[in-house]
Amino acid sequence: MTENLNATVYRDDDADVSTLEDTTVAVLGFGSQGHAHAQNLADSGVDVIVGLPEGNPDRPAAEDAGLPVETPADAAAAADVVSVLVPDTIQPAVYDEIAEELDAGDTIQFAHGFNIHYGQIEPPEDVNVTMVAPKSPGHLVRRTYENGEGVPGLVAVEQDATGDAFDRALAYAKAIGCTRAGVIETTFAEETETDLFGEQAVLCGGVTAMMKAGYDTLVEAGYSEEMAYFEVMNEMKLIVDLIYEGGLSGMWDSVSDTAEYGGLTRGEYVIDEEAKAGMEQILEEVQDGTFAREWITENQTNRPSYKQLHDAEADHDIERVGADLRELFSWAEE
Ligand code: NAD
Ligand code: MG
Ligand code: MG
Ligand code: MG
Ligand code: MG
Repeated sequence: MTENLNATVYRDDDADVSTLEDTTVAVLGFGSQGHAHAQNLADSGVDVIVGLPEGNPDRPAAEDAGLPVETPADAAAAADVVSVLVPDTIQPAVYDEIAEELDAGDTIQFAHGFNIHYGQIEPPEDVNVTMVAPKSPGHLVRRTYENGEGVPGLVAVEQDATGDAFDRALAYAKAIGCTRAGVIETTFAEETETDLFGEQAVLCGGVTAMMKAGYDTLVEAGYSEEMAYFEVMNEMKLIVDLIYEGGLSGMWDSVSDTAEYGGLTRGEYVIDEEAKAGMEQILEEVQDGTFAREWITENQTNRPSYKQLHDAEADHDIERVGADLRELFSWAEE
């Protein structure tokens, strides 16, 4: 649990990339975050080595970007900062490959806190453990940087072995462009717990559960599948875009007064005290490690529940109807 503090926001002036002057950064992984961090760091003048296993399908892209590519162990051996940008579920295994290469005073750097917070990776005490987590997918981290802009991010220090781990993390955040937009100071605990809560209760779990329940309610009442899809799923993007731009008030101003009155009086029929209690249970399972243990066990046992849930979701009627309808207006995405 984290104290409820007002966050400090750091900008370009607060950070100094020259802190990383004599530093080599090993970027492990060249996916969404990895390709962006590696190229932005290099363009900011930092020495970068990409760490990918022999035969990894992302090796050609890293080589085409003009970056040196080594195995994760060799990259880590040559580096002072090891940035772990492989999928969270395989990070413990990749850590085992590079652990011996972490020397006193080195830094292990993450973009999400799960494995440190839940004790799946335990770096030695003489190593800095930091996080710089852009609040956006990697392609935007790269594209905004190239445009002279940046995406907001989070910075955290779990372990400060050198006494200046925070300044080094801020320098990394600046080198990938995040301080141009603003970087918020947080902790591994807060980042991990709020991220899991957000994706489970609201962003991914809550929103999809609400869409499916809305769709089923309309179709069971005899309305057409196509109408149901448009009303409860397709139009979500338009509403969310309005909220993203102008907050809730901006959205309420743009929809009809009927929609505003209906929404304000009826929303709590759906998200009521019981739904709130469900959210509190989600948060509890995140905080006490129940969710983490469950997900770690899933991954150690070939993901039986994950696979079954993944397939069932793809089989929901709203997916078949939606795929057919999106086909009709694919021009809208051009
Ligand atoms: P990704 O799946 O896009 O990329 C993973 C990369 O790791 C790929 O290049 C893959 O080839 C490589 N890889 C796979 N096995 C490997 C191995 N054994 N050794 C070395 N490399 C290997 O992952 P991502 O989405 O960039 O996530 C990386 C980290 O960034 C995670 O901690 C994630 O939580 C965090 N993060 C992601 C986002 C996002 O929007 N994608 C945003 C913020 C933070
Ligand atoms: Mg080293
Ligand atoms: Mg998140
Ligand atoms: Mg997440
Ligand atoms: Mg409508």
